Amino acid sequence: MSQLSRVLERINAEEVVELTRSLVRIPSVYRPGEPGANEAEAAAFVAAWFKSQGLPVEIQEVAPGRPNVLSWIGEKGPGQRCLLLEGHTDVVTEGDPNAWTSPPFAAEMRDGRIYGRGAADMKSGLAAAMIALVAFKRAGVTPGGKLLVGALVDEEDAMIGVRHLVGSPAGRELDAAIICEPEENELCLEQRGVVWARIRARGKMAHGAMPEAGVNPITALGALLRQTPGLEKRLRKRCERSRYLRPPTVTPTIIQGPPRGVGAPQSNVIPAIAEMTLDVRLTPGITSEGIQAEIEGLCREAEAGLPGVKVEWEPVNAFRLATKVDKSEALVKAMVHGVRKATGKPPRYGGVPGSTDGTILRMELGIPIVTCGPGNRLIPHQVDECVEANEIVDAAKIYAASALKYLEA
Ligand SMILES: [Zn+2]
Repeated sequence: MSQLSRVLERINAEEVVELTRSLVRIPSVYRPGEPGANEAEAAAFVAAWFKSQGLPVEIQEVAPGRPNVLSWIGEKGPGQRCLLLEGHTDVVTEGDPNAWTSPPFAAEMRDGRIYGRGAADMKSGLAAAMIALVAFKRAGVTPGGKLLVGALVDEEDAMIGVRHLVGSPAGRELDAAIICEPEENELCLEQRGVVWARIRARGKMAHGAMPEAGVNPITALGALLRQTPGLEKRLRKRCERSRYLRPPTVTPTIIQGPPRGVGAPQSNVIPAIAEMTLDVRLTPGITSEGIQAEIEGLCREAEAGLPGVKVEWEPVNAFRLATKVDKSEALVKAMVHGVRKATGKPPRYGGVPGSTDGTILRMELGIPIVTCGPGNRLIPHQVDECVEANEIVDAAKIYAASALKYLEA
């Protein structure tokens, strides 16, 4: 029997489903300041599970109660590769539990689907990666390199888990990564990027009855707001058109005058400062400098239109540019092969609408990433989030078959 058949034989559908349900039952929503509301319990479960399977475990203490958990099989010898199957243990808030058909952390099964917060994003993808790894161990097949599974923290917020990983020895030895996010098991070679620009206009405070005595920063933001459709148009010209990604967008999401912490708003006071945030989504083709210059230009224009006002901006979090890998990459070829072997069908391709931990791996390490995992890509963060059981099993097989192929080279 081939190595691949031996590994795939060790992937048990029921076990994949039950592991997913166990993970969904742990409510790993991160709520700052609330004791125990973090990834600690989910991470401990993952670590204990790997240990119970006789696999090694590395814990990276990223922040208190927020550890990355790593496990692996094989080692990266000279000329060999290291592949990461990447998942995250945090989930977004369940919102109003009464809005759900069944309790959000009950992991109820209905019609071949698991329901619950994190079912798709991404306890199922993580479970599939865990099962793929252990299948090698059980089959007695050591890959021709190192296969690593990472259950990271904080993907849904500032991505401190993956930022920690890329700076650690385990991160530095990576050659490629499969991001196990919900993408209907499509091979996603492109991801949209995001830049949040916080723009601050400073004017001069004055009485609302005597506006001539002040400089109104809100007026400057108004001018800037009118320029955003123009910016969107320019970005659409500068960035690549993609078959799989929606075109760039520029969306104002926050506007405040005065901003929180800088004083209380009052109906008869022109504030000294007003602030707004633009949520800018990108496709590949623009650099950090390129997007920086565009936003800078917008600020200078608003400033020029209103003497006495100063307009500055800063990015909220670091830039996360769009990512793209070529079909000629060894990882992509291995995954095309893996999908065929695991499902008997040719792969379908897709694109990731937002940024993921993969964005950081691509930007910081320059390694190729492919996003592929179980679950509908539109369902995360919604009420009644769910995942098809069959898709999770397919994902586990795709990960195992792709890893075997990628690491044998
Ligand atoms: Zn996710």
